[in-house]
Order: sequence, then C-alpha cells, then structure tokens
Amino acid sequence: MSNRDSRASTVDAVIVGAGFSGLYLLHRLRELGFTTRVFERGSGVGGTWYWNRYPGARCDVESMQYSYSFDEDLQQEWHWPEKFSAQPDILAYAEHVAKRFDLTQHIDFETEVSKAHFDAATRRWHIETNTGATVETQHLIMATGCISTAQIPEIDGLSDYRGDTYHTGKWPHEKVDFTGQRIAVVGTGSSGIQAIPVLAEEAEHVTVFQRTPNYSIPSQNGPMHLKYEASWKQRYSDLREEMRYTGHGSIKDLNDKPAMSVDEDERQATYKERWKIGGAGFLTSFNDLLFSQESNDTASEFVRQKIRQIVKDPETAEILAPKTYPIGTKRICIDSGYFETYNRDNVDLVDISETSIKRITPTGLIANDQTYDFDSIVFATGFDAMTGTLFNVDIRGRDNLALKEKWYAGPRTYLGLMSEAFPNLFMITGPGSPSVKSNMMVSIEQHVDFVTESIVHMRDRELELMEPELASEDEWVDHVQEVANKTLFPRANSWYMGANIPGKPRLFMPYIGGVGTYRRKCEEIVADGYRGFRFEPKVAAAAAE
Ligand code: NAP
Repeated sequence: MSNRDSRASTVDAVIVGAGFSGLYLLHRLRELGFTTRVFERGSGVGGTWYWNRYPGARCDVESMQYSYSFDEDLQQEWHWPEKFSAQPDILAYAEHVAKRFDLTQHIDFETEVSKAHFDAATRRWHIETNTGATVETQHLIMATGCISTAQIPEIDGLSDYRGDTYHTGKWPHEKVDFTGQRIAVVGTGSSGIQAIPVLAEEAEHVTVFQRTPNYSIPSQNGPMHLKYEASWKQRYSDLREEMRYTGHGSIKDLNDKPAMSVDEDERQATYKERWKIGGAGFLTSFNDLLFSQESNDTASEFVRQKIRQIVKDPETAEILAPKTYPIGTKRICIDSGYFETYNRDNVDLVDISETSIKRITPTGLIANDQTYDFDSIVFATGFDAMTGTLFNVDIRGRDNLALKEKWYAGPRTYLGLMSEAFPNLFMITGPGSPSVKSNMMVSIEQHVDFVTESIVHMRDRELELMEPELASEDEWVDHVQEVANKTLFPRANSWYMGANIPGKPRLFMPYIGGVGTYRRKCEEIVADGYRGFRFEPKVAAAAAE
C-alpha cells in the first residue's frame, strides 16, 4: 500500500494510538492485507513513553521482559543498556520498531479522534478528528493506553499562579532546567517517587506535598550484565512462552508458601533477601501477601521498618511510612534512592493527609496554614486511568448509545476486549482484562493477536459484525469483581478502584485472576467458536442465503 492509500477515507480498521499497542496492531493488520488509518495525538510514536519524559522516568518491569516478542530478529538484536530501562531508551526502542517495520509513514500524528459513531445502516464506524479528517471504517480499535489522561487536581487559584507548572505525564520535550529553583512536587505515586530524587539533585530546594505515603522497593538497577542478557537471548522464545502463562506476565521468583507458614526468622530473612534483589518481586516473597491481611501486615511492617532505618529524621520517616492500606493494594513503587532523598538538606516533606492544599497563590501555595513560595510546581498527581481516555472520545454504538452512558456505574466489557452494543469496537488492554496488573507488553501482544485473529476470522467467513452477548458480558463483569473481592485490593483508595478521580464509580477495574488464567480462558472461548460473542454476516451474503 502506498503512503497515499493510507490516508484513505474508507478503511478496514482505524487504530487510535501509536504506542506499543497501536504499532503492533498496525504491523499485523498491514501484514494481513487490511487497509488502516492510525491517529495519534502526539507528534511521535511511543505512547506512555512519548509523554512521560519526566526526570527519572523508568520502567519497573525488567528490560529483558519489557519488549515485543513477535519478531525473533528484533529481540535478538536489540540491546538494553540497563536492568530497568530509562524512558529515553524505551522511546528509542519504540521509534526503532516503527522504522524497522516501516510504520511511521502510515500514522497521522498530532491528530485526536473526537467522535466515533456507529451507523447501523452502513454498519460502519464514522470517525471524526480534531483536524477535520473523517473516515469510515469497519473496525475501530482503541489502542489508547490505560494511563494516558493526565490529571491536575482542581485547586483554587491554580490559574493565577505566575511560576511554571508541569505534569509528569505531559512533560515538555526540551530539557527543563530547575537549577537554582525552589520547586514543589505534589504527589508521591510511582511518578513522583521516581522524579523526586532526580529533581532534588538539580533544584535548589524541593518541597514534597504528600497526601498518602507509598510503599516503595529499591530497584537495585544497574548496567545490563552481558551474561544475563545472553542467558535470556539463548532461550528467548521459551521464556516468552513461559511469561505468557504466569500470573503477571513476567518471570518472577514466586515463593509458593504462605507468609505465616514459616517462622519469624525465615520470614524476615526472605523479605531481606527480596529487598536486596529489588523490584516488584518483593510482593511474591510469599504466595498470600495480597490475600491475607495477617500475612500482608508482616510485609508492610518490614517496609515501614526499612523506611525508619533509611530516613534519619524520625518524624519524617513516620510521615513516609504507609499505615492506612495493605502493601501492594496501591500500585507498588520501585525507586532509585527515594527514601534516602529525605536525608538531603534541600528536601522537605509536608504531610497534607489531613488538610489538603488549600489554594495556589500567584507565587506558591498555602497548605497547613502555611504559605510557601515556589518558582515551579510539579504535579505528579496521576491519571484518569482505564476509562478516562476512552471517555474523551464521543463513542456511540447502536441506537446512539454513548459508551460513557453505558459505563456510568463502571466499565462493562466482555474480557476487557469489547462491550455489547458497540459492534466491531475493540479495546487493547481494556478494563476487565489483566492490563495494568500485568507486564503490559505481554498483555498488549495477546490482545493485538486476539483482535487481528478475530478480524481474519470474520474476513474468512464473510462476517461483518462482531459483538459480545449481553449475558456473557454481565457474567464477566461479575467475575472480575468476584475475583477482586477475594483479594485485599478493594481495601485501598487506589486508581485501580477509580478512587483518585472525584465522582468516579468505585470498583476494581482490571482483571486480577492472572495473565495465564485469562489467556487460557480466551483460548478456550476462541476454540469454542468465540463463545459469548455473536457475529452477523455481510448483508449481501445474508440476503443470498
Ligand atoms: P498515582 O499513582 O495516581 O499517584 C498520584 C499521586 O498524586 C498520589 O500520591 C496522590 O495521592 C497524589 N495526588 C493526587 N491528587 C492530589 C491532590 N489533589 N492533592 C495532593 N496529592 C494528590 O500517579 P503516578 O505516580 O503518575 O502513577 C500512575 C501509574 O502509572 C502507576 O501506578 C504505574 O502504574 C504507572 N507508572 C509506572 C511507572 C514505572 O513503570 N516505573 C512509573 C510511573 C508511573 P493519593 O495517593 O492520596 O491519591
């Protein structure tokens, strides 16, 4: 297909987003001979890694496991310089993939899809963008990511602030120089925890405003050991296959014992060893940390003790030590020298758990009845996760039903892939799938394969529409909640529960039953003739029957 054809106004599939999901989708659909349009709001590929350029941004899945598996040459040839990759390296990888598979020329950059309406008469989706482009498509695939709508809280006075403001998830492309500046950081989730140590190195003074403390485990990051890299590359295809059937889509050493089945000495020794290794594997120190409060308490207390050992000022250490929710039920953070940063003379911590930020002033902010002046404010305040980006597009299915309306009490999907009344609308890593509770690369590849194979299934059988049965969707929605309710996750006010966005329905959005379990369910459903989905033949083919 020529570059001009890819600007066609009628295509087989529209893909929204050119992050890792969109790129792989584009590659597969083009390989299979489908016509496509891809719309991307950024000026380049990479999705999350295009937007999150804040200082210290880094992936907390190991580099050898956070990459595509679909091309053997690609995975053999690419070299990751560090055990955990920094944002520029991951973005360079995304750009390399786009170039290597000749994808870039087929993407409309700086173009946001504003409307997507299903027309029952033509059985096509009608797409409109902010640039005025309109397209008719049979299939619409939302590859818009789960954490892509940045949130700056509505604090009084924000528009009057005369300094510079930043959000970690929408960081400028050019280097921001904080040298000599007094800066505020609001938010201590994964992004804040990564950014704060790096900002403290550069700025004259950093004041961190913390609403809820987070559990964080050191990454113990370092240069990639060439022997380790070689050991992965020698068995890459076997290891990738193993990853696909694990609990979280990555190979971690799960200790298959409950925490309380061993004595105190063994428990402490296990946590110590896991802390030394670093990374999210701390949560697999025992097999019941996310199910048993008693077991979880032991891991939570271990981390609190670590914080008390690292942070010299006991009052600061106590503010940093999380006590109101079980470890792991808010996304575990992985850091490089986070708690140590509070031993620096140029870093202060302000506890706003009881009072919140009262207002922003032209020169700073007021919190706890104290006035602070800042040159810049960095918001590390998170995202309207999983549904926010989908709702930013006016998506309407059968009978003009808005997705937002159908999901007013929470997302309703079958397998996190489709929603009834929205034929041929697919979501990559949508709510109700393992998505953010997994190694995203593994879940992305699985969903892209599922979607492209479904589209081929339809083409081969002259089917025109695919849609979940309402009963299957209802059953799946209940199942997702049932599985989550057996865990400790609902006990935290996390973004997984929608708790960070005022007015958002409170329910656990991802599927926590495990990547392998989920994958097997999908395989069984396909083997059983796409159980739970219904298809409609092409109108002409139907008339001929
Ligand atoms: P986040 O986890 O939602 O954290 C947002 C922080 O801002 C929280 O500390 C929150 O406090 C605080 N906050 C929000 N509104 C506030 C307000 N009005 N006043 C004061 N504080 C406020 O967001 P994030 O850190 O950007 O991370 C989001 C997700 O992105 C992560 O959980 C992770 O999945 C992903 N991520 C991954 C990596 C990685 O791979 N290394 C790095 C960064 C992000 P509360 O806790 O009280 O709400």
